[in-house]
Amino acid sequence: KRQLKAGGLEMHLQPKTLIESGAVVAAEALSRWHDPDIGAISPDMFIDLAESTGQIGDVTQFAIQTSCRILSEWSEALPELQLAINISPSLITNRDIVELVRSSTRIWGVAPERLTLEITETALMDHGDASHGVLTAIRDFGCKVSIDDFGTGYSSLAYLKDIPADELKIDRTFVMGMLEDPGDYKIVEHAINIAKSFDLSVVAEGIESKETLDALTRLHCDFAQGYYISKPLPADEFLKFCRDYRG
Ligand code: C2E
Ligand code: MG
Ligand code: MG
Repeated sequence: KRQLKAGGLEMHLQPKTLIESGAVVAAEALSRWHDPDIGAISPDMFIDLAESTGQIGDVTQFAIQTSCRILSEWSEALPELQLAINISPSLITNRDIVELVRSSTRIWGVAPERLTLEITETALMDHGDASHGVLTAIRDFGCKVSIDDFGTGYSSLAYLKDIPADELKIDRTFVMGMLEDPGDYKIVEHAINIAKSFDLSVVAEGIESKETLDALTRLHCDFAQGYYISKPLPADEFLKFCRDYRG
């Protein structure tokens, strides 16, 4: 069976802006894997591979530790930056993840408030009760919890009643074409209203044009992420981007 070889992981950062001001306030940490034979492999492929080879814990550890190291190294350049890390469905029912966040933030001297853990809506549906304890522990420790890929879970909305979360991320498949497809527009509009009514902040990902960002501003979406602002960037380029960007 193919294994992910050590040393091939790299972290890219995609900026997330506060729509009201245009300021870069956060970034999503997105892992990349460079295979010496194949080249760059997208996470959609290697995350599945890592799951099947039992290496998903290692990938997650890399993502959390690298994020903490970056925040620590940039404590002067970007003292307010927040980072979001994707957590695999298979890991959200196990308290090891809480211990990993605890030890990484302690080692790097990073305030837990500066980390958000993203969990997909599908994972929350599949693991409902079993994940609540872990998510609550994550929030009690001080990190934020975000519901990723919202709208794709074919879910009843009942789970939102008592979900231990802070943020809702509308899936990019709805945002990307929301100005061409009236159905997508309505889903985005309603997702924003649902988030507000449950006191969750709301992020739109997959913003590829100025017109889409303008529409989301009118809909009072809180945060923006997408290629129109920037693609995911290697850490050094992200730092440069933050210095130069005027939202
Ligand atoms: P996600 O968490 O929904 O991340 C957002 C994805 O949307 C990223 O793809 C990003 O590059 C892409 N994206 C952002 N803006 C735009 C846009 O304007 N247009 C389009 N077409 N795409 C946009 P990426 O980096 O390929 O990651 C895919 C998925 O892999 C992520 O989806 C996330 O679920 C997963 N992933 C990435 N890194 C990790 C990791 O370290 N651990 C785990 N467990 N999953 C990861
Ligand atoms: Mg995500
Ligand atoms: Mg997403």
